[in-house]
Amino acid sequence: MTTTRFAPSPTGYIHVGNLRTALMNFLIARKAGGTFILRIDDTDPERSKEEYVDAIKQDLDWLGLHWDRVERQSERLDRYAEAAEKLRGMGRFYEAFETPTELDLKRKKQLNMGKPPVYDRAALSLSEEEKARLREERGNGVWRFKLDHERIEWQDGILGETSIDAASVSDPVLIRGDGLVLYTLASVVDDTEMGVTHVVRGSDHVTNTATQIQIIEALGGTVPQFAHHSLLTGPQGESLSKRLGTLSLRDLRAQGVEPMALLSLMARLGSADPVELRTSMDELIEGFDITRFGAAPTKFDMTDLFPMTARLLHERAYEEVQDEIAAIGVPADLGERFWTVTRDNITTLNDLPAWWAMFRDGAEPVIDDEDRDFVAQAMELLPEGPYDDTTWGEWTNRVKDATGRKGKGLFMPLRKALTGQSHGPDMSQVLPLLQNIRAKG
Ligand code: GLU
Repeated sequence: MTTTRFAPSPTGYIHVGNLRTALMNFLIARKAGGTFILRIDDTDPERSKEEYVDAIKQDLDWLGLHWDRVERQSERLDRYAEAAEKLRGMGRFYEAFETPTELDLKRKKQLNMGKPPVYDRAALSLSEEEKARLREERGNGVWRFKLDHERIEWQDGILGETSIDAASVSDPVLIRGDGLVLYTLASVVDDTEMGVTHVVRGSDHVTNTATQIQIIEALGGTVPQFAHHSLLTGPQGESLSKRLGTLSLRDLRAQGVEPMALLSLMARLGSADPVELRTSMDELIEGFDITRFGAAPTKFDMTDLFPMTARLLHERAYEEVQDEIAAIGVPADLGERFWTVTRDNITTLNDLPAWWAMFRDGAEPVIDDEDRDFVAQAMELLPEGPYDDTTWGEWTNRVKDATGRKGKGLFMPLRKALTGQSHGPDMSQVLPLLQNIRAKG
């Protein structure tokens, strides 16, 4: 059965880059009728925060990326210890004692000699006595996995035939000196034991994948199908890494971006298929095909999300936004009319309170000097409320007869006087919603 996982570390909010990973894994599982696991990579107790676990769940919920179950790495430490024991027993795991400074020096020397900066495995030749002495001096060493120096190959779901020479990679550290299990070990144990069949993640993980394949094989697990999507860049191709903090899902939500706008963009950005605005998750699942994605960096421009959000809102039925509209204080009997009048004139739902304030309190009138008398005269002719759809027509007819103005010269000064703006919804629709027309007029 197809099983995928989204495996964030709860050390911050998730952003558009993570979302791409989450969405692809979600869509693969749903399309295959499989399982989508939310795996919290929280082996590091110092960096992991419970508030981020909650935030990640809220963000995924907001988007409708519902998971079938949650797994937490912090609850599986015994499984990782067991795997480590197995690797030790097989002679694939060795303790190394170099300090970060020593490693750095080694790297610099190698680079100076034109060699790749790969760990030289000096620790492999330590005798038991030397290790005991080092342990005494420096505390426990780190545990490295001894790679087999051969070419590691896999058929990548996006990159195609991929291979990495294991000799060009340092033996990965899987356990720190203080006993902390690092991501690589925890991840392969989980992927194997949870029956994960497909792993989609960013192309920054390609080298990890190579080493993970060897670890999985050493542990006797089945290697999942890997796919590495390209990293997102800004609209000009600039790196997004520093700006991802401001592209968190919470920020986008706060700015009024609609979930289906974000998901529609992300499900197609970087693929050979055009971005199409979808209104339901089923359509998104249906139209998703990972083989259509390319390896080139993908440009992401958050401003694309606003026209897409606006298009979704223009189609939205009142019933779907009723609660939001009630929440900003629109009386229930005006709610539907308020929505029909404003929905074509908003970009996000965040624009609604300003519209409601305008209807409720009246706008600051905008009256050009040459229209001052005209507007004053027109206000005298405004019928008594309550207003309905016919009021605007009746009123402007009266004003036309009294002043001789017509067309734009008639309508525009009235629109500006009543709404403070030169554009907006049909005035015959606006008038019945204006609660305080006289006060400002
Ligand atoms: N916690 C890892 C990360 O956020 C997971 C990577 C993976 O999908 O294996 O980078």
